[in-house]
Amino acid sequence: MSDIEEHRKKIEEVTLEMIKLLKTRTDIAKQIGDAKASLGMTVTDEEREDALRTQVTKLCKEIDLDQSTALKFLNLLFNESVKVQSDNKQTHLSVFLKAKALEEQGKKIIHLEVGEPDFKPPEEVKTALAEVYDKGYGKYGSPKGIFELRSDLREMINHAGEATLSTFVTEEGIMICPGARFAVYLAITTLLNPGDEIIVIEPAWPAYKDCALNAGIKVRTIKTTLETKWEPSIEQINNAINENTKMIILNYPNNPTGKIIPEKLQDNIIQIAKKHDLYVLSDEIYSEYSEDRGHENIGGRSVLHNDYKKSIITMSFSKSHAMTGYRIGYAIAQDPSIIDKMSKLQALSLTNVSEPIQYVAWNALGADTSVNTDIIKSRLEALVKIAKDIGLEFIEPNGAMYLFAKTKYKNFDATKFSEKLLEHGVAIAPGEGFGDYKEFFRITAIDEIRLKEGMIILDAILKESYE
Ligand code: PMP
Repeated sequence: MSDIEEHRKKIEEVTLEMIKLLKTRTDIAKQIGDAKASLGMTVTDEEREDALRTQVTKLCKEIDLDQSTALKFLNLLFNESVKVQSDNKQTHLSVFLKAKALEEQGKKIIHLEVGEPDFKPPEEVKTALAEVYDKGYGKYGSPKGIFELRSDLREMINHAGEATLSTFVTEEGIMICPGARFAVYLAITTLLNPGDEIIVIEPAWPAYKDCALNAGIKVRTIKTTLETKWEPSIEQINNAINENTKMIILNYPNNPTGKIIPEKLQDNIIQIAKKHDLYVLSDEIYSEYSEDRGHENIGGRSVLHNDYKKSIITMSFSKSHAMTGYRIGYAIAQDPSIIDKMSKLQALSLTNVSEPIQYVAWNALGADTSVNTDIIKSRLEALVKIAKDIGLEFIEPNGAMYLFAKTKYKNFDATKFSEKLLEHGVAIAPGEGFGDYKEFFRITAIDEIRLKEGMIILDAILKESYE
């Protein structure tokens, strides 16, 4: 046998051996998953993962193997374990689907679980829908979106209110996407590689984690608490960073807490990102729903003002213009090469976003949406008042359209409570869908009459179950 044949044979044997070991590892991971589920433990145990990581780093030195390759491989193994241990977590979406099924059977449900404005999109949308057929926006188009829309967005972004950006965004730094969700997916999938790590600050909208998992990217979570006002500490962030960390995700106003972090903290986070050359993905889709919008030095300032080249901002017409089902949002980056990378996958998967819908969104940009934002604000205030009256524990939201609360009862299980509450016709989102928050639940600020009705039932079931 020639040398090369001999090596080929050997490499096949080693590969097959690795696959057998993978099978053994996967089986053990499943057993651990079952044990964790029966003990009510969370799937990821970062302390154990870090301990193994340290062992792998040590081994790499001993056997003279490139550490970065080994750690990426380790991250892939961790992700596989998370997938096979995949818990049947209840999320706002799973509760929504159950609620829908009950409605189909004729039951009346008050939806406090979904994050969807219940008012109509602006009149401009109706007019644009009626005229678009004759306007000719019906052909294949640029993967980044129609120029008119990107151009008006550019103007709006660069000169939002009194705050002009110091580094202007160009049309090439803006891409229209079918919703902010797809923009988040594109950013995570195209800017990172399998084995890389991202940092997610929890509680968080579940899609960030799911997108990463789907792309073989390891998620490192930072758990924030009610006690520390849902603010991550600089120490927590520094501790979560290692040489594989490539991105940190921010989402303020936050879903589910409504939190806006102070500007100083935002500045510090961006400084850390700069130091470690991390991407910052800032999901700002609730920026229109934030207290004291437009005032100087008030939280909720876009990350664009930090003037950091590696940041990507995701935005949407879903909440601000009540256009959830139209599926339209956009991504912004001061560095157009980021958008170029993302647009390649968008072109590959969609060709382009539906042009008629882009035309409609373009027209919707001219609409005055302040009535809607005022409605959301007053609903949120009403929700805060009722929640205080019935003794829920929470931090008052600075924006978005939710309240993330717990009760005073020890060992309160929000998932079980939400199941029981649904039997009484009220749907809420259990906290476990947003991270390790089994004792919390999220309530959406819907119209005041239905909201009050729902909260009365919630209070009654709470007392009936725990007093
Ligand atoms: N980001 C956050 C924080 C959200 O809560 C949601 C929707 N609930 C989205 C993004 C998705 O928005 P879109 O409808 O534009 O995909």
